[in-house]
Amino acid sequence: MNVIRFTDLIAQGKVAGQRVFIRADLNVPQDDAGQITEDTRIRASIPCIEQALKAGAAVMVTSHLGRPTEGEFKPEDSLAPVAKRMGELMGREVKLVANWVDGVAVAPGELVLLENCRVNKGEKKNNEELAKKMAALCDIFVNDAFGTAHRAEGTTYGIAQFAKIACAGPLLAAEIDAISKALSAPKRPLVAIVAGSKVSTKLTILKALSEKVDGLIVGGGIANTFMLAAGLKIGKSLAEPDLVAEAQAVIDAMKARGAAVPIPVDVVVAKRFAADAEATVKDAADVAEDDLILDIGPKTAALLAEQLKAAGTIVWNGPVGVFEFDAFAHGTETIARAIAASSAFSIAGGGDTLAAIAKYGIEKDVGYISTGGGAFLEILEGKTLPAFEILSRRAQDAQAS
Ligand code: ADP
Ligand code: MG
Repeated sequence: MNVIRFTDLIAQGKVAGQRVFIRADLNVPQDDAGQITEDTRIRASIPCIEQALKAGAAVMVTSHLGRPTEGEFKPEDSLAPVAKRMGELMGREVKLVANWVDGVAVAPGELVLLENCRVNKGEKKNNEELAKKMAALCDIFVNDAFGTAHRAEGTTYGIAQFAKIACAGPLLAAEIDAISKALSAPKRPLVAIVAGSKVSTKLTILKALSEKVDGLIVGGGIANTFMLAAGLKIGKSLAEPDLVAEAQAVIDAMKARGAAVPIPVDVVVAKRFAADAEATVKDAADVAEDDLILDIGPKTAALLAEQLKAAGTIVWNGPVGVFEFDAFAHGTETIARAIAASSAFSIAGGGDTLAAIAKYGIEKDVGYISTGGGAFLEILEGKTLPAFEILSRRAQDAQAS
């Protein structure tokens, strides 16, 4: 995807003395007292801000936080805790500015944080008047918030339409590059793992990927529905029998392209859904009426690991078992370690997938870990994200002029 990159603008000397508006993703989790419990997103946003300051820009940064009601600012909506933490991390004071839509005083070399952008009336629905006002605040708009790239809002889309220059920040650019590498021009074979609890939440992903990938590995509750489609009995396992026809359609689509959806040959079952339930390995054909399948079996895991080790590109979303319970985590751990050991370029995303990656400590061995939950899933669905669309359109316009 062709977008203007902020780092290129800096290298071209186009940022010094300019007013730069950065849309970051600073939506961090907080406890009941408002204390930040996890600051990864703030840390991840700092490189772009530092680059802008170093280049001599007057820097404005904003983000949403939580789900405020537009037009009704409440103390708990405030970015004040974020300003404080950012200040600590950057070793400088970070001034917080409220009611900023009609004008912001900021000089080159200065940094201000603009209050929660979702408090502004019209942000969610991308009101044009609001977008134009925000665009008028800056010379350069930088989108560095991949997590909201699937939403066409005032600070993710409208401002990019009207700002003099609209570009991608380093975080967003890295996501764009990793996604292109994995899905637009992948090194083959391209193997995707789509697992987790439910087919219904990932049906569009399964369909979209079945047109692209050389191997489609299913796992978790999703695999159970595919096992039903393959005529296997799954006892009391989590599955969606009404989606068996859809699962069959995915299997057929893959078959028609000479590719396959491997169905588990063995599974780990229990009689109840609990961490201390007794785990029993069974052949996929031997699942009893009162069994719950909670993981893929060791033979299946070993077969899949072989396939992953031979892949050119791997896309991973979803744990293949109830990895939160150690007795049913073997499959997910085997997959995680196979991805880590594979020479393939790998990209992974999804809330529970990230938790599994952290549990097995393979962060450094995954090619790219996507931080945007919903946005990442929409990419896998084959959608063009609004934030990408507008930035690439602005890049085309800039090239043409
Ligand atoms: P992600 O957040 O990475 O997109 P999902 O939310 O789709 O993943 O699925 C993760 C959840 O699926 C985990 O909480 C896991 O325990 C559950 N899960 C995996 N396999 C099974 C299974 N066989 N039965 C029930 N739940 C499962
Ligand atoms: Mg999840």
